[in-house]
Amino acid sequence: MHLRFSDPIWQKPRTATAFQSLFPAGQCVDVVIVGGGILGLSTALHAARLGLAVQVLEAGEIGNGASGLNGGQVIPGLKYDPDWLLEHFGLERGEALVNFAASTADTVFELIRDERLAVPFVRDGWIQAAHTETALKAAANRDRQWRARGADVRLLSRTEIATMTGAQGYLGGWLDRRAGVIDPLAYTSELARVAAAAGVKIAERQNVMQISKNAGFWHVSTESGAELQAKAVVLATNAYTGGLLPGLAETIVPLHSFQIATAPLSSNLAAAILPEGQAVSDSRRILVYYRKSADGRLVLGGRGRMAFPNGPADWAHLERALLRLYPALSDIAIEKRWFGRVAMTPDHLPHIHEPEKGLLAVVGCQGRGIGLMTALGERIASYLSSGDTRQLPFPVSPIRPFPFHAFRQVGVAATIAWYRMLDAFER
Ligand SMILES: Cc1cc2nc3c(=O)[nH]c(=O)nc-3n(C[C@H](O)[C@H](O)[C@H](O)COP(=O)(O)OP(=O)(O)OC[C@H]3O[C@@H](n4cnc5c(N)ncnc54)[C@H](O)[C@@H]3O)c2cc1C
Repeated sequence: MHLRFSDPIWQKPRTATAFQSLFPAGQCVDVVIVGGGILGLSTALHAARLGLAVQVLEAGEIGNGASGLNGGQVIPGLKYDPDWLLEHFGLERGEALVNFAASTADTVFELIRDERLAVPFVRDGWIQAAHTETALKAAANRDRQWRARGADVRLLSRTEIATMTGAQGYLGGWLDRRAGVIDPLAYTSELARVAAAAGVKIAERQNVMQISKNAGFWHVSTESGAELQAKAVVLATNAYTGGLLPGLAETIVPLHSFQIATAPLSSNLAAAILPEGQAVSDSRRILVYYRKSADGRLVLGGRGRMAFPNGPADWAHLERALLRLYPALSDIAIEKRWFGRVAMTPDHLPHIHEPEKGLLAVVGCQGRGIGLMTALGERIASYLSSGDTRQLPFPVSPIRPFPFHAFRQVGVAATIAWYRMLDAFER
């Protein structure tokens, strides 16, 4: 993986170890999981607890993918509100999906508590900050739908959001108290630790090159020569999906999300900026999201260029966004800059595919994968163990590469430019 000019702030716990554990060649395991991010590790942990023999193969190190690089905002829900989900999926599946979506942040914080994961976290909510009247109306609509379901959410006035964020320019917003922030690399590393303790074999630096079927079993081979046989394979490669499964990479648009972290804030600034520790995403089409880290930095992220960054100038748009929100930070140093890949699907929903019995792939978390992939991993594990598709919150869908995928970079760049212009003019 290409990590030039990428210097994240997140830390693996001091006790984190390297993983080099492989089942012996010739032994048939129940499940091979390709990809050691949150989805792969959550699936592995729960599958092992259900009695399955599980091997995780990770091309790099645990946490090298989006799971160890993200913003650490644990936000429940999907891009869509409950009414849309009910309308789109019908009453029964829609209701199950709304309940699943509502529970995803709980799943993360319960795992941290129950498994005693060494993960710095604050659970004090997420603010969706509105900068236009249209965004305020959308927030009111979202608030009505979730409050009707008993969720701990509420609207924020202009004064309240100014006090809670310390930021300039918002008309109001929406607070979702179910959410919180974590150190994502610590979380991913700790998931690996408890999965290994539950019996999962995890091997890093095992780039899977081929998956084939022979005599009813899946054969998985890696670049470094490992060969495994399995009853089932789960592709948990998400935005880092390559050519392992024909057509899969063409079902997603992998976007780059860039982040910056300031030097630790002085006590005066820390008291004025997000004093209660909430996470924030704003309502722009090309949104920025931000939070404070456990060591007192302000961490802000947003869309970045599709090509690999060449140097600090590629993060300049985020520094401008930071100063627009917090002019008082004009003298503060930006100490860290990094990026990772997010998988978007055309319908903005995660997709579960099973092109052949026992070959599963899950892609597309639309930048909200910490809760979603943790909770989905548990469901995928139940499905692997029981074969019962009712365990899966999303319907299994065929792999449908979308047309003009080869031109996605041009399309995304044009869309981003157009959205930036709309954001600049919208009131
Ligand atoms: C910068 C950034 C900020 C984000 N912020 C947030 C946020 O604040 N909140 C939130 O909820 N979500 C956020 N997300 C999204 C979230 O990080 C992802 O949805 C989630 O981590 C996806 O987990 P995953 O396990 O599916 O994929 P990943 O963590 O990307 O794991 C996939 C793994 O597959 C491995 N792999 C790929 N190919 C192979 C192969 N052939 N063989 C072996 N291994 C392979 C990769 O090395 C990688 O480790 C953000 C993402 C990014 C990039």
